[in-house]
Amino acid sequence: MKDNNCIFCKIANGEIPSRTIEENDSLRVVLDVGPATKGHALILPKNHSKNLYDLSEETATEVIRMAKKVALKMKEKLNCDGVNLVQNNEEAAGQTVFHFHMHVIPRFENDGQVIGWKPGQPSAEELDAICDLLK
Ligand code: 5GP
Ligand code: ZN
Repeated sequence: MKDNNCIFCKIANGEIPSRTIEENDSLRVVLDVGPATKGHALILPKNHSKNLYDLSEETATEVIRMAKKVALKMKEKLNCDGVNLVQNNEEAAGQTVFHFHMHVIPRFENDGQVIGWKPGQPSAEELDAICDLLK
């Protein structure tokens, strides 16, 4: 449920003040204190999960519904040109706070941010092999 050593548990449950833009029974959405762009928000479940692997199906559904709501609000109120959803799991993938969270990042033409990857150039055989492994 809650982890007493987890800062996002404390923020999500209102024990530490935050700039909250949405809240319901199971989630709190707060502004990121180190934003990629103006309005960068974090969707935090009130119950502790370390990452996507241990998130309940129900909360996962609520998170994506909330992401849509927040993205539409950003379009309306910030007049942003796009929105990235980013969600990191484990250190190797860039996770730094080990309480599940979804980033909602409004994007603006020429905002100078890079959220992406360097495309690979796999052969057809390599793609086939990965496809066989994952299906
Ligand atoms: P991660 O790299 O784990 O996906 O993202 C962690 C995010 O949490 C970072 O974007 C960071 O700026 C943000 N963050 C870290 N500590 C706090 C905090 O105390 N309050 C808020 N609102 N955001 C935080
Ligand atoms: Zn937590």
